[in-house]
Amino acid sequence: MADATATQHPPIAQAHLPAKVFEELEIVKDPANLFHQTIEQVLIAAQLVGLAHHQQIILAQPHNEIMVHFPVLMDDGHHDLFKGYRVQHNNALGPYKGGIRYHPDVHLDHIKALAVLMTMKCSLVRIPFGGGKGGVKCNPRDLSRDELMRVTRRFCSAISNQIGPDYDIPAPDVGTNAQIMAWFADTYAQMTPEHERHDTLRIVTGKPVVMGGSLGRDKATGQGMVNVFKEMLPELGIDIDKMSFSLIGFGNVGGWTGRLLVELGASLRAVLDHTGAIHNDQGINPNALADHVSQTGGVGGFNEAEAISEQEFYGVPVDVFIPAALEQMITSRRAKLINARVLAEAANAPTTPEGDAVLTQRGIEILPAILCNAGGVTVSYFEWVQNRSAMYWTAEEVDHRLNIHMVLAARRVKLARVKYECDMRTASYCAALERIGKVYDLRGVFP
Ligand code: GLU
Repeated sequence: MADATATQHPPIAQAHLPAKVFEELEIVKDPANLFHQTIEQVLIAAQLVGLAHHQQIILAQPHNEIMVHFPVLMDDGHHDLFKGYRVQHNNALGPYKGGIRYHPDVHLDHIKALAVLMTMKCSLVRIPFGGGKGGVKCNPRDLSRDELMRVTRRFCSAISNQIGPDYDIPAPDVGTNAQIMAWFADTYAQMTPEHERHDTLRIVTGKPVVMGGSLGRDKATGQGMVNVFKEMLPELGIDIDKMSFSLIGFGNVGGWTGRLLVELGASLRAVLDHTGAIHNDQGINPNALADHVSQTGGVGGFNEAEAISEQEFYGVPVDVFIPAALEQMITSRRAKLINARVLAEAANAPTTPEGDAVLTQRGIEILPAILCNAGGVTVSYFEWVQNRSAMYWTAEEVDHRLNIHMVLAARRVKLARVKYECDMRTASYCAALERIGKVYDLRGVFP
């Protein structure tokens, strides 16, 4: 495409533009497909900001979709074949960046959607990364520690030619953690010539602190949520120190968000995870709950709260409802039950388009995922910078810098909302796309 087209944007508001892009790319839209849902939402925002047509086409598909199969020796002596993915969506703003997930439901279109969201997220918080995502189809709860290590090492070796510390940098996501990043980094180092190994730490972020991880990375997504809340909630009439909230998920993101909010005076009323739902109107102690979860694997059976049904959980009255687990959990049926003023998306894409419509129609404000949960990748960026410079920051320095990125991102979303007269989710994509569009306008498209 000629450079001249890069600066001549087509008229805004061409009706059904996402459908036209789908048609052009021969994507047969499946309304239940997360990738299709995500691309559609991004294209609606692209239309609002007047993103050039060729840029929309570029963003509607990932650059690279890598799929690997690799055998792993299991503890009982047999070999299982595992399926892994790495999707590299866009690197116009910097190296591909995004987590690696271990989950039985991992499949290509899911990873593609999550990679798109990483491109949007990194652009929104103005860090010099593009978007990627990876995963291995497995249930980490069914694997022994040794099996988990062997899966990780084989997966790393299977994709090692496709990633790099300045090219594509994985991180933890659902089902993975700092230990897995340590095995991943070690395997990558072993596969690198010895005289180049000094610089391989940056191949992943979210490493243990003793192995080049950043202080504050563990709590970063939760901390970023809190920073966004401080910027957004008072304007919505909610005081953090008096607010009540409920959580879906009590893993890294839910656990930290819960603890940090309660430290500020908020009251955690209900939690749901794969082991059950619990409720306490007097407030749940998140530290005691975190101990219980680390001993038993879930919130079910926590004796300082009453067990409730899933249906009851959604109806617990709170100021802020926070899904911090998997995608597509807030369906229209569940959205009808939610009894909150604000839904803050700590998980990636937790709300289906139908759920979104119900919440909007009921006047429940949605704080979108690419803003709310961007703290994790922001501190990943800090980790990468620290590894590169071999100079390490204090926890205060990390917190201070994270706060700047999160507050400015929240303000960008608020401005975009007014400028484009749209909902908060569309505004978050608009704010992200404005930057990507400017960069593509300047770079043009090779040749
Ligand atoms: N998995 C996290 C996310 O979805 C973090 C990604 C990263 O740090 O690269 O944002």
